Amino acid sequence: MIRPGALDIRDVSKSYGETPALIALSLQIAAGECLAVVGESGSGKTTLLRLLNRLAEPDRGAVWLDGRALRELDPNELRRRIGYVPQDGGLLPHWRVQRNVELVPRLRRLADAEPRAHTALELVGLDPSAFAGRWPHELSGGQRQRVALARALAADPWLLLLDEAFNALDAITRADLQDAFDRARRKTAITTVLVTHDLSEALRLADRIAVLRAGRLEQLGSPAAVVNRPATQYVEMLIQRARSSWPQELRT
Ligand code: ADP
Ligand code: MG
Repeated sequence: MIRPGALDIRDVSKSYGETPALIALSLQIAAGECLAVVGESGSGKTTLLRLLNRLAEPDRGAVWLDGRALRELDPNELRRRIGYVPQDGGLLPHWRVQRNVELVPRLRRLADAEPRAHTALELVGLDPSAFAGRWPHELSGGQRQRVALARALAADPWLLLLDEAFNALDAITRADLQDAFDRARRKTAITTVLVTHDLSEALRLADRIAVLRAGRLEQLGSPAAVVNRPATQYVEMLIQRARSSWPQELRT
C-alpha cells in the first residue's frame, strides 16, 4: 500500500483584510516526512496549518493531499484524519485522559477506540494504567502535551500538525517531549508539519526545514543545508541566534 500523507502546497496566498499572512507559497512534503516550519511570530506559520486543516481557505492557489484538492474533501472528515497539537494541548478539561484520547476514534466510529487510546498513550511514554483515568488538571504541562500528542496519533491520521507544541515547557521537560515525539513519529511514519519559532528544535527533529519570513518562503532545505548554506542574511541571523543558545563547545 502506498503510504498516505503527501502534501503539495501550490502557489498559496492568504491575507486577513489588508494583512498578507502567506504570499505565493509553494512547497511539497513527502509522505512520512517531518517538515519543520520555522519563523518569528507573525511570519504565517499558524495560517499555513489552518489552511491544511481547512480552518481557513487560500485566496489564491491550492493545497493537494495525495493528489486530491483539499477543497474537494469534506472539512469535518478531513479534520478527523489530521492530528493537531496546539501549544496548550487543547484537552477537554471535563473529560478524563482516556476519553480525550478516544475522541477522534469515537468520532470515526472505530470499534477499537479504547485499545487505540491505550496504544497511543504507550507510544508517547505514558502508562495507561497510571494516566488513562486522570483529569487534565491532574497532569503536569509535559504530561498534558504528551496526552495531546497521543490524542493526535490515536486514529492513524494522514497528517500530524504541531503548532509550537513544545514551546511553553521548561527546557528539560521540552527535551524529553521532543524525544518522545521523535520516537513516536519515526515509529508511525506519519507526515508531520512541525511549526516552531525555535530553529534548534527544527534542526533536532525535522527531515527538512522551511524558513518563513513575513509570509514568504526564505529557504527550504535539510538541517545540514540550512546551517551550512544559509540562503539569505535573515537565515544566517537565525542561525547565529540559535548558536548563541548552544553550549560554548558546539559554537563553531
Ligand atoms: P505565526 O503563527 O507565524 O505567528 P500567523 O499565521 O498567526 O503567524 O499570522 C500571520 C499574519 O497574519 C500576522 O501578521 C497576523 O497578525 C495576521 N493574522 C493572523 N490571524 C489573523 C486574523 N484572524 N485576523 C487578522 N489578522 C490575522
Ligand atoms: Mg502561530
